[in-house]
Amino acid sequence: MSLKLYNTFTREKEDFVPIKKDEVGLYTCGLTVYNYAHIGNLRTYIFEDVLKRVLIFDGYKVIHVMNITDIGHLTSDADTGEDKMVKEAKKEGKDVWEIADYYTKAFEKDLKQLNIIPPDHHVKATAHIRQMIDLIKRLEDKGFTYIADGNVYFDISKFKNYGKLARLDVKSLKPGARIKIDSAKKNPLDFVLWFTKSKFDDQEMKWDSPWGRGYPGWHIECSAISMCYLGDSFDIHCGGIDHIPVHHTNEIAQSEAATGKKSVNYWLHAEFLIMNEEKMSKSKGDFLTLTKLEEMGYPPMVYRYFCLGAHYRQPLTFSDEAIETAKYAYNRLVNIIIEIKKNRDESKPNPEYVEKVIQEFQEKINNDLNMPEALAVMWQMLRSNEIGNKEKYELVLDFDRIFGLQLDKAEQILEEEAQQKVDVKLVEHLIKERDEARKSKNWAKSDEIRHKLSGMGVEVRDNAEGTFWRMKS
Ligand code: AMP
Ligand code: ZN
Repeated sequence: MSLKLYNTFTREKEDFVPIKKDEVGLYTCGLTVYNYAHIGNLRTYIFEDVLKRVLIFDGYKVIHVMNITDIGHLTSDADTGEDKMVKEAKKEGKDVWEIADYYTKAFEKDLKQLNIIPPDHHVKATAHIRQMIDLIKRLEDKGFTYIADGNVYFDISKFKNYGKLARLDVKSLKPGARIKIDSAKKNPLDFVLWFTKSKFDDQEMKWDSPWGRGYPGWHIECSAISMCYLGDSFDIHCGGIDHIPVHHTNEIAQSEAATGKKSVNYWLHAEFLIMNEEKMSKSKGDFLTLTKLEEMGYPPMVYRYFCLGAHYRQPLTFSDEAIETAKYAYNRLVNIIIEIKKNRDESKPNPEYVEKVIQEFQEKINNDLNMPEALAVMWQMLRSNEIGNKEKYELVLDFDRIFGLQLDKAEQILEEEAQQKVDVKLVEHLIKERDEARKSKNWAKSDEIRHKLSGMGVEVRDNAEGTFWRMKS
């Protein structure tokens, strides 16, 4: 059965044909590690995990690469604003390396808790500066760059197909068309490849380069890292839809200008998680983390189930009712599985039915990853009288290779639900007391409370958005 995927580049659902027969090169843009991932980010990572699981289910070996953005991502994707890492480091009174390290670990823990298969290469931008410099040099040699005000820019007028992914009308954009435009740019859509002169606070992280000591722009890291691990041309590149007009548009320009080859065959993008009628985003401050969700009584698997309930190309609205419904459904599923597992001997074999259900399931998952319909196939099968519990149990575990809902651990999940690991109310109370102690500069008391929380297995962190807590790993 052929796998069909919606390719943003062509705006069409296409049959997936990999470059190598049995292997798929997959690149997914990673997190900018200046804060915790919010559950909107995590929706995109769940979609990418489902894609990877479908490819594996279909028999492909997947080589998955994800970057860790620990440098160069400014508060606006289009080279304006401050460096997100530097800004947060200042607020937290730490250095950028500490910030990157802490939030990378927190992100990896989130991925694990969501049962997301780790990438084969989860690599830091700062560990690939040499590859980025080499790539910029190649672009310079081919005449795609210019230097202005100490920074190296990509000249989009030299790249014929600039903006095709996003269907940008490049000609209609005149210099000066944007407010606060960088006056060094020849065209407003030109972007920085290498900074030697920061437009804002000075960067702590700097490297020597042919253009002087400095640091890379954000977009170059994904081109350099993907080419380093997957070659000049690879199969699939993913991210959220916000990356279409700038980040991925610029990646295509850099990679294809350097190699003269098509860089990516299939571009897949996830729609947003919406909250309070807006895209969830860190800059707006109105966001939820996985830990916060857990505190609210919704474990990571419930969130995963919630995400599977909508197609990845549809916006998904987070609300108390919607997550509560997902919790109810997931708990029901877990209970049904425990029941059928216990009573497995009452089976009545029906191979025709089993084959039909598997066929249906495969059709759904291979139809551009239609998880809502795949879940419906599972529920229908669980309710059916056509087969007994043994087949049901085997089928549900097989389907869970795609869903990744840890259904093989049903008893454990139920047990964990039952015994609340920590008294959330007490933790919240102590955090509030600690906040008050900090406000009145009573450091001894605030330290004492932190110590107490630590003894309960709770780790506390203060950052620009306030105080967060999580269970220690
Ligand atoms: P960033 O750290 O900003 O590069 O974001 C990491 C990933 O999360 C990217 O693939 C973004 O496109 C994606 N993303 C950001 N906000 C949302 C959202 N509200 N819903 C879904 N995905 C998002
Ligand atoms: Zn990227």
